[in-house]
Amino acid sequence: MAEPILSVQSLSVTYGAIRALHGVSMEVYEGEIVCVIGANGAGKSTLLNAIMGDVRRESGEVFFDGKPLAKRSYQVVAQGVSLVPEGRRIFSPLTVHENLMIGAFPRKDMRQIEEDLEWVYGLFPRLQERKDQYAGTLSGGEQQMLAIGRALMSRPRLLLLDEPSLGLAPILIKEIFKELKRINGEGVTMLLVEQNARQALMLSNRGYVLQTGRIVLQGPSQELLVNPDVTAAYLGKL
Ligand code: ATP
Repeated sequence: MAEPILSVQSLSVTYGAIRALHGVSMEVYEGEIVCVIGANGAGKSTLLNAIMGDVRRESGEVFFDGKPLAKRSYQVVAQGVSLVPEGRRIFSPLTVHENLMIGAFPRKDMRQIEEDLEWVYGLFPRLQERKDQYAGTLSGGEQQMLAIGRALMSRPRLLLLDEPSLGLAPILIKEIFKELKRINGEGVTMLLVEQNARQALMLSNRGYVLQTGRIVLQGPSQELLVNPDVTAAYLGKL
């Protein structure tokens, strides 16, 4: 079997007296969409933030493409990993275009940046129509598109997504997830954390269940979707 593009080995994170991750191990292979599902406070954001280097890894290792992943986020981005943060964190007083250009920082290859901008506008024509509009005036769904577009502007091989469905109406969630599938089809591997377990499992190839900082279950998403423990705890009624 090929080497994973991302390998997280026995990762632990503490915040003062709180241990948020207890020896988490997981892999993502090139081309996959992998999801991590779990309840509020399970440690999903901590996992992504620790991979990005935004939160200190107390112990354990993270490898990207067979090499240790840097510990500072700007170096992690340079290695080919980028994050769409929870709550989008777009820059409201800047325009759509300016937000996207921030995602290209610190690249200097202007021709390639222009090409990537065209790519992102092609993926999200609504952003192109609104490129001079202040980001703070976009709708929730459009802001999520912008957050995804901004992360794509660093040309990542691996995109980390923290709850892209948060606060969006079901129809917009469908639209965003369809777009993620398309972006994945264009060669971007994805690791997605979600409370919206059903949608996340339907989108992904494989899934992990995180419970109070530990992986308690993993498998192909199609199997997790019909697993009685997952159904009872995370999927609720249709
Ligand atoms: P949610 O879906 O609600 O965002 P989550 O699964 O992403 O939850 P985390 O945000 O990773 O969970 O939080 C995991 C645990 O770590 C929680 O108990 C949380 O209170 C705690 N925690 C997170 N960030 C901090 C922090 N900066 N300082 C102290 N404790 C924190």
